[in-house]
Amino acid sequence: MAKDYQCPACKSPVDPAATVCSNPVCRAELAFCSSCRDVTTYTLTVPASGRFKRDQYKCALCQNVGVKCLTWLSGGYCNGLARSSGRAFDQPFCASCNGRLGEVGRNVLGWSIVGAVGGLFKRPGK
Ligand SMILES: [Zn+2]
Ligand SMILES: [Zn+2]
Ligand SMILES: [Zn+2]
Repeated sequence: MAKDYQCPACKSPVDPAATVCSNPVCRAELAFCSSCRDVTTYTLTVPASGRFKRDQYKCALCQNVGVKCLTWLSGGYCNGLARSSGRAFDQPFCASCNGRLGEVGRNVLGWSIVGAVGGLFKRPGK
C-alpha cells in the first residue's frame, strides 16, 4: 500500500510524516489527517477552550475537524490530526499512532505521554 503523498498547496511529493512542506518556496504546514488518511494543510477553527481541550483544526481536504495527536504535541515523531469527537474528550492519538501504540501497550505509553504533555487530560483515578 505504498502511496505517494503530495503537498496540497504546491503538489510536491512529501513525507507523510512531514509537518512542514520541504519545498523551500512553499513551506506549508502539513498534517496527516486521520479522517481522509492523506497529507493535508489545516486551519485553526476553535482555539482550546479549557485545560483539557486542544485546539481544533479543520482538514483542508475532507473538512473534518481534528486535534493534534498527543505524540505530536509532546514532541514525538508524528504529524497526525486525531479525530475530534466534539465531546469532552477527543481521540488522544491519530490513526497512525493508535496503530503503533497498539503493539507496545497503548495504556502505558499513552499515559506517560499524557503525563509529559501535562494537564491536557485528567489522570486516571483523578
Ligand atoms: Zn508545499
Ligand atoms: Zn482530512
Ligand atoms: Zn500521532
